[in-house]
Amino acid sequence: MVNQTDKQDQTNAPIGLAALEARLQQELDWLELPAKAWMPSLTRDAQPLLEVAIIGGGQAGMAAAASLLHLGIPAVIFDQSPAGFEGPWATTARMETLRSPKKLTGPALGFGALTFRAWFEAQFGLEAWEALDKIPRLQWMDYLRWYRQVLKLDIRNEHRVKGILPQPDGVVQLQLQTPAGEQVVLARRVVLATGRDGLGGAQLPEIAKEVPRTLWAHSSDAMDYQQLAGKRIGVIGAGSSSMDSAATALECGAASVDLLIRRTELPRINKGKGAGNPGLTHGHLQLPDAWKWRIRHYVNIQQTPPPTASVSRVSRFANTRFIFGAPIERIVSTGDGVQVHTPRGVFAYDFLIFSTGFRVDWSQRPEFDAIAPHIRPWAARYTPQAGEEDAELSALPDLGPVFEFQQAQPGALPGLERVHCFCYPAVLSHGTLSGDIPAISDGAQRLAQGIAALFYQEDIEFHYRNIEAYAEPELRGDEWQAWKPGQEDVRPAPILQEATP
Ligand SMILES: Cc1cc2nc3c(=O)[nH]c(=O)nc-3n(C[C@H](O)[C@H](O)[C@H](O)COP(=O)(O)OP(=O)(O)OC[C@H]3O[C@@H](n4cnc5c(N)ncnc54)[C@H](O)[C@@H]3O)c2cc1C
Repeated sequence: MVNQTDKQDQTNAPIGLAALEARLQQELDWLELPAKAWMPSLTRDAQPLLEVAIIGGGQAGMAAAASLLHLGIPAVIFDQSPAGFEGPWATTARMETLRSPKKLTGPALGFGALTFRAWFEAQFGLEAWEALDKIPRLQWMDYLRWYRQVLKLDIRNEHRVKGILPQPDGVVQLQLQTPAGEQVVLARRVVLATGRDGLGGAQLPEIAKEVPRTLWAHSSDAMDYQQLAGKRIGVIGAGSSSMDSAATALECGAASVDLLIRRTELPRINKGKGAGNPGLTHGHLQLPDAWKWRIRHYVNIQQTPPPTASVSRVSRFANTRFIFGAPIERIVSTGDGVQVHTPRGVFAYDFLIFSTGFRVDWSQRPEFDAIAPHIRPWAARYTPQAGEEDAELSALPDLGPVFEFQQAQPGALPGLERVHCFCYPAVLSHGTLSGDIPAISDGAQRLAQGIAALFYQEDIEFHYRNIEAYAEPELRGDEWQAWKPGQEDVRPAPILQEATP
């Protein structure tokens, strides 16, 4: 006989990934997904055309590919990283856990069985889920690896896109560096899912350029922090990556770590989080420019506080200092170290870490050389009110409703609009839909539905011919008989009511 406790154990017992995968398959089957193939198979000079090529196999690229596949649109992802090491999580990120609350459904695209929670509970059970505070960084990467496998996404790793050349005749040429050498592929549409620094790279103060490259790193650089053991480290900035870099350096045995912080105190409120709601997700795109700018500028200048656990991770060490009101005035190289001049004094370090964020910077992305000069930035679209100037926002691309680039000079690079920008720099045009966990599914679905509509319009002659050629009968033709004149009347005789006397 099963007693109450056994019953409970059975209810809470992890079902295992195989059972979860079967459940996901059942959900997809019930919803008839993916849609059946409906796109024409096109070739160019006897070479097959990819329908959509996605550059980047992080969560944005994968959610975009899955959304396209569900709409019956094949998508191939190219990523320069080795398989399972896409994005920052298992490469350059150094936080212990994600900032995002564990309950966010991320790239699950509306399928309960595809959420991080389902994946976690299937392996570790409900109790472990309830006990979990934040998602460990590497566990998020494990979940993304499972996501890729369970959705059978076509990701070609160690394929670096070196060039993007839109053509006037409806295709975009991609030049790739692959393990088998250089390759050229043609795609009808290209999605840049290239990440937080997707159209550029590290944002560095001019002053950094005067310091020998051996004496500094950016917080997003891949670097073995063990080499900082015994050294005096200066970390410039006070965001989450500053804390992660400082803590990692301390844990790796740095002699000391100073955080040099321009502000007089840390921001405490996460305005970006406060701004998030379904209204912003679905309504930002249609807002007047002035509102788009005002919201993003406000969130920018308020700055995002580092997570509390990340700050405490640094504060645990006695050999660290938070030095506020210390903007960098000058850095003097002393051969094997630097002197950093600030209003709070001159500090000597063996190594500096700039944790100063990212920016659009085409010079750091040679793969975009052919398209960059033609991309219309927000600076060409909108002039902010006095006091709301914001160089970071001005440099962001002014995107169309399907995340597509628009031409700086109309007609100068035909085909540019076939390249869709589904990475962080889409934020001013579309809101935060193109990278961060909270609304990545909404962004991916907007992109996929928009691309489906564009393909349909473009191929309308093909689809019309298909309608004409469509010949699947729904009636056999023997379900009725046409009446002929002279045919015996089989209708019942009318009942004539007799008049009452
Ligand atoms: C340290 C850190 C912590 C973060 N923590 C959070 C968090 O807690 N919550 C949250 O919501 N967001 C967080 N973010 C923001 C965001 O969620 C991540 O940046 C996330 O990785 C974005 O996913 P993505 O798919 O857009 O880009 P990525 O994961 O960066 O993937 C982009 C991919 O594109 C590939 N690629 C780029 N250029 C090329 C090329 N030319 N050819 C081939 N491949 C290319 C890269 O190799 C990479 O794999 C964090 C960001 C960072 C940097």
